[in-house]
Amino acid sequence: MKRTIITITLVFVASLLQAQTSFKKDSTLIKSIYNTALLNGKSYDWLDHLSNEIGGRLSGSFNANKAVKYTKAELDELGLDKVWLQPVMVPKWTRGQKEYAYIETGPGQTSIADICALGGSVPTPKLGIKAQLIEVTSLDELATLGREKIEGKIVFYNRPMQADLINTFEAYGGCVDQRYSGAMEAAKYGAVAVVVRSMNLRADDFPHTGSMTYGDTPVDQRIPACAISTNGANYLSSALKILPSLYFYFKQNCKTYDDVLSHNVIGEITGTEFPDKYMLVGGHLDSWDLGDGSHDDGAGVVQSMEVLRLFKEIGYKPKHSIRVVLFMNEENGLRGGKKYAEEAKLKNEKHIFALESDAGGFTPRGFSFDLDEANFKQVESWKPLFEPYLIHYFAKGGSGADIGPLKEEGIVLAGLRPDSQRYFDHHHAATDTFDAINKRELELGGAAMASLVYLFDTYGTKTELTSIKN
Ligand SMILES: [Zn+2]
Repeated sequence: MKRTIITITLVFVASLLQAQTSFKKDSTLIKSIYNTALLNGKSYDWLDHLSNEIGGRLSGSFNANKAVKYTKAELDELGLDKVWLQPVMVPKWTRGQKEYAYIETGPGQTSIADICALGGSVPTPKLGIKAQLIEVTSLDELATLGREKIEGKIVFYNRPMQADLINTFEAYGGCVDQRYSGAMEAAKYGAVAVVVRSMNLRADDFPHTGSMTYGDTPVDQRIPACAISTNGANYLSSALKILPSLYFYFKQNCKTYDDVLSHNVIGEITGTEFPDKYMLVGGHLDSWDLGDGSHDDGAGVVQSMEVLRLFKEIGYKPKHSIRVVLFMNEENGLRGGKKYAEEAKLKNEKHIFALESDAGGFTPRGFSFDLDEANFKQVESWKPLFEPYLIHYFAKGGSGADIGPLKEEGIVLAGLRPDSQRYFDHHHAATDTFDAINKRELELGGAAMASLVYLFDTYGTKTELTSIKN
C-alpha cells in the first residue's frame, strides 16, 4: 500500500516537473518569436511594397500578377525547402471608369451620391439608369411589397450593420445578404437596379464594394448593383421620407471577362519528423480594387510569410511540414482555396492544422477555431503561454474562407482574431490603405500566429496523436 502511494506520488511529481520544464521551454521559444518579430520584423516592409508599389490586386488584374511574382521572389529569398506557384483559373471583372450617381429632387436639383459598383455587377446602360426608388430593410420585405410596388424601380437596401454587436463580423454577417443576393432577388419583382447601403459601421463618404451573385438569373434579366456610402444612404433615406417620388441616377461601366490563369503562391519548410503531415498558414493575395488591400488581406499575407521567416530566423526546425499559402481569388470566387484543397486531396497530402489571417492587421486578441472538444481542451491549456502577450480570446467559431475547403474530420482549422472595431471602416473601400496599418500591431499578429503554429507542431493535434497510436 505504502509502496503504491510512493509510486503514485513520484509519478505525479515527475509529471509536474515535466510540465514545468515544457512550460519554460515553450515560454522561452515564444519569447524569442516575439522578440524577433518586434525587433527585426519583415512583415511591415513586405506590406509596404504590396500596398504602395503594387496596390489593389483584384483577381485577373495586372497587379494581382505582380503580387504573385513579388511574393514568390520574397519567399525564394527566405531559404525555404520549396517554393512554387500553383496554377488556378480565376474570374476577371473590371470596374472601368469611375461610377457616377446623383439624387434628383426636382428639375435641375441634384446632389451627388458616392457609389461604387458591386463586384461582379453588370454595367448600367451607356447613358446610365434613372428611376424612382423603393427603400427596404430586408430581402423578405420585397415579397410583402410585391411586383406592383417594385417593378420599374431601383430597390434601395438600407439595413445598417447592428452597432450593439461587439463582434463586428457578426454585424457584417447580419447585413451582407443585401449586398450578395439583393440584385438577384429584386430582379424577380421587376426592379431595374439596386443600391445597397455600404457594409460599414462608421458614417462616412466611402462606398464599400464586395462580391454579389446573380445566381441562375438569365443574362438578359441581370440588373446593375451599386453600393452607396453610409452618409449617402442616410441622406437618401431622409430625402425619401420628404419626397418619396425623387429620382436616383447612376452610371457604371464594369465588365466581366472570360476566366484567366493566375496562381496561389506556396512555400514550405519540410518537417524533420513528419514530412508527410502538413500545417498551413495563409492569407489571400487578391484584394478589391478601390484601396490597396492593406488590411484585406495584405496583412494576412505578410503575417503568414513572416511565420516561416521567424522560424528560419530563430533556427526552429519544425517536426511537421509547414506551408505558407497565399491564396488567389478569395474575394470573388474562392478559386485559390478550392484549388489548393482539391490538389491536396488528389495528392493525398494529410493536413492536420491550418491557420488563416483574414480579419485585418489590427491588435491580435486571439484565435477562433473549428475543431473537436479534445483539440479545444489542448488549445485552452496553452492560454497561460499567451498571457504575457495579451492574447486571451480562444473560442470555437469560424476560421477562414480560404482554408474552409480543407475541412475534413480531424483537421484543426483556426483564424487569427484581431480587434475588429475598426475593420469595417476599411473593408473593401478606398480607405483600405497602408496608412491605416500600425507596424507594431501587424507584427504582434504574425508573432501570435507563429507561436500557435509552434505549439501545434510541438504537441501535435489530438486527432493526430490518436491516429499515431492506432
Ligand atoms: Zn479578406
